[in-house]
Amino acid sequence: MKAVQYRRIGAAPEVVEVPEPEPGPGQVLLKVTAAGVCHSDIAVMGWPRVPFPLPLTLGHEGAGTVAALGDGVTGLAVGEPVAVYGPWGCGTCARCARGEENYCQRAAALGIHPPGLGAPGAIAEYLLVDDPRHLVSLGDLDPVTSVPLTDAGLTPYHAIKRALPVLVPGSAAVVIGTGGLGHVAIQLLRALSPARVIALDVTEDKLELARNVGAHQTVRSDAGAAATVRELTGGLGAQAVFDFVGAPPTVALATAVAGVEAEVALVGIGGGVAKFGFGGIAYDAAVRVPYWGSRAELIEVLDLARAGAIDVRVETYGIDDAPTAYERLHAGRVNGRAVILP
Ligand code: NAD
Ligand code: ZN
Ligand code: ZN
Repeated sequence: MKAVQYRRIGAAPEVVEVPEPEPGPGQVLLKVTAAGVCHSDIAVMGWPRVPFPLPLTLGHEGAGTVAALGDGVTGLAVGEPVAVYGPWGCGTCARCARGEENYCQRAAALGIHPPGLGAPGAIAEYLLVDDPRHLVSLGDLDPVTSVPLTDAGLTPYHAIKRALPVLVPGSAAVVIGTGGLGHVAIQLLRALSPARVIALDVTEDKLELARNVGAHQTVRSDAGAAATVRELTGGLGAQAVFDFVGAPPTVALATAVAGVEAEVALVGIGGGVAKFGFGGIAYDAAVRVPYWGSRAELIEVLDLARAGAIDVRVETYGIDDAPTAYERLHAGRVNGRAVILP
């Protein structure tokens, strides 16, 4: 089968032919219908070394139909459309018992990796899923526009849910970076809270997308952005800030526009550093560094999509063009999420 692999440190992803996997006991084989392209893959491909063996089949956002069941698997039917819950854990520790496999206490020790981030990923014709508990039924949701919800939806959902207590009427929420995750975050904020949403990005195209998906106000993310956002929030700063870039200028911006007791979520992994203490972030602001989300939250995000509250904007590519999708994402030219249709 065809798969898109990261094969050598620093090399671009390649379309290769690999053996079709077979499900062992307890595993499920999916015929992949759609797989999302995340900026985290670009970050991983920029690391000087990776904590798993190469080559790696990419893709940690996956949707498919059940192709075959390993021995002992029950409760799933061949042909059933499903989405993959990506942050695989051990399934038995206290965190996993709560469905928070993203924070599994034993995954590292047991060498368990998410698909596409250590285990073979979803940008391939078939995907092997280690356990049926990693699957959520899609029902009649469109797999192409739903597959980004497994990360670009789930990750902001998890971050936003934490901040809901401060997002009261009259409050403001700042979204920095309105790409794959950010453009879904704006919609989640609109669906879940009465907050005014102020979105920032670096190009007019991205700001237009932000307005189209519900941002009340948009601001160009430049040297004057912090002052503009402060002005838009009556000089007090925002009640919640979500940074989907996490680079030095955006972490500085995120902390500069946070008000007293704000919730700040640094979701992007761009290597930014926050300044604390006098002259740093506002008093009693809480800074979180969330990772992905729980299985229950994925079910909730999909239910929200089913209710019509989320319209994920996608650009689709055939599997042979997946390397082009990565190039365009790297260049900041994808509006919404790139989705591969293997
Ligand atoms: P993306 O490329 O689709 O979106 C990033 C957006 O940020 C783009 O629209 C880009 O124009 C914008 N941007 C770049 N520099 C900016 C700046 N200085 N100010 C404002 N906007 C700027 O990427 P994505 O797939 O949405 O991922 C976003 C980030 O989140 C990445 O760092 C990714 O690795 C990370 N991520 C983290 C988690 C987690 O669990 N913590 C999960 C998924 C992705
Ligand atoms: Zn991701
Ligand atoms: Zn666990």
